[in-house]
Amino acid sequence: MNSGQYDFAVIGAGVVGCAIARELSRYDCQTILIESRSDLGDGASKGNSAVLSTGADTPFGSLECRLVARGHARYFAEAPSLGLPILAIGSLTVAWNSDQLAMLTSMHADAVAAGFGDGEIVGPDFIYAKTPRLARGAVAAIWDPHEAIVDPFSTPLAYALDAVENDVEFRHSSPVTGAFRNSGIWHLETPAGNIRTGTVINCGGLWADKVDSLGGFSDFSSRPRRGQFIVYDKSARSLLDVVIKPVPTPSYRGVLVTPTVFGNVLVGPTAEDIDDPDDWRTTHEGLAALREAALRILPELGAHEVTATYCGVRPGTDRAEYRIIPRPDASWVSVAGIRSTGLSGALGIAEHVVALASGFGSHLARKSREPRPIRVPSLCSLDPRPWERTATPARADLEIVCHCEGTTLGQIESAFASPIPPRSLKALKRRTRATFGRCQGFYCGARVRMLLDEALAGRTA
Ligand SMILES: Cc1cc2nc3c(=O)[nH]c(=O)nc-3n(C[C@H](O)[C@H](O)[C@H](O)COP(=O)(O)OP(=O)(O)OC[C@H]3O[C@@H](n4cnc5c(N)ncnc54)[C@H](O)[C@@H]3O)c2cc1C
Repeated sequence: MNSGQYDFAVIGAGVVGCAIARELSRYDCQTILIESRSDLGDGASKGNSAVLSTGADTPFGSLECRLVARGHARYFAEAPSLGLPILAIGSLTVAWNSDQLAMLTSMHADAVAAGFGDGEIVGPDFIYAKTPRLARGAVAAIWDPHEAIVDPFSTPLAYALDAVENDVEFRHSSPVTGAFRNSGIWHLETPAGNIRTGTVINCGGLWADKVDSLGGFSDFSSRPRRGQFIVYDKSARSLLDVVIKPVPTPSYRGVLVTPTVFGNVLVGPTAEDIDDPDDWRTTHEGLAALREAALRILPELGAHEVTATYCGVRPGTDRAEYRIIPRPDASWVSVAGIRSTGLSGALGIAEHVVALASGFGSHLARKSREPRPIRVPSLCSLDPRPWERTATPARADLEIVCHCEGTTLGQIESAFASPIPPRSLKALKRRTRATFGRCQGFYCGARVRMLLDEALAGRTA
């Protein structure tokens, strides 16, 4: 542990903060990533649609558009070496009537003018060849072959592990509760003591306005927007192999129906402005609206079981765009309002923010050595299971703990042995899929809980 002073303190280990910490790990500087919760990726980053967007559905010319396009390109280039799965299944943005067709045509023309020339307008023959189970009546669609589905939980984990492997310190369970600056050094107050740093990068997501106010800044206020989801059973996965999107309105991207890399079908999100960023409830009305939309788009979903419902909250602000605000005089960067595209844009945002922050003080030099590599185990349902990866699997890789997801004892033990081990059942679920499946832990929950308790007791013993 660095007992002295850091060059950079990144507050908030969501997907954005983790990507920024990883980016900083490529430079000769001391960096700390500080998270209030016991695990990373436990805010907005745990409740999204997991679609890697190209940027073609963001406002053209905006910073968001540029950074999402860059993040998408970098994800394709870098995720495979981190072990992260990408299923490039493409998306169809479907028009169901003549009004939507007019909007679709104009969206496509704007996209081409903005340099997103790969999407093409396709007719019903193409649409139904791609997705035969789609409800009848589709008029046309934009086919974007570059949209992909990814693992939303392993992504921030991979970024954080990479950062830690490359000398960044990660401090969990450390809410920053105060901040003051003395002789050019920020002192960040946490329950375990003050952290001293030259530059602060506020990636507080839903709480970024509160973190900014600790530093004396008040340029924006958070406007949380809740999005509910329904997860359909894996039996539904054969119904589609493409992301189905509606024609968006200026304020709502609408309900999408998409496969997940874990082998389920996901329907959502809703869009509800809420006051409390901690209000993560699903509601009867929200889920009923999603189910109605699901059956309208993919009627055969009605014959499949629902595995789970969940909710995410978008970290919006009082303006629609990203609020990335460099404050060179204060050595503070606010990275807020990463509302609906942070999973896609994180690597682009990281590059942009580090370039901004490196201009604050002395020159930030890249490390001369290559970064030490890390890999996370792929949790994609299409990838080989642990016992299939070698001719002579270890005993723990033959012992299945969670039968719905095929999670082995070996996977759980590896998660506990990680430099960033899970400290809660939720964190263990996100790393291994245990209890995430059809029975939602009915059969394996007690064993998984026991394994977690033993690991936690071992760590404190
Ligand atoms: C319904 C929904 C659907 C979405 N779909 C997609 C999609 O398909 N594709 C896509 O690219 N994006 C999508 N997104 C957007 C994406 O999930 C977000 O943009 C992204 O997760 C934002 O990440 P973040 O790191 O900014 O915030 P967060 O993940 O919220 O991270 C902020 C972190 O800061 C910590 N923190 C806050 N205050 C403090 C403090 N004082 N001290 C220490 N730590 C603190 C929090 O605990 C939290 O972990 C969706 C979002 C939602 C909600």
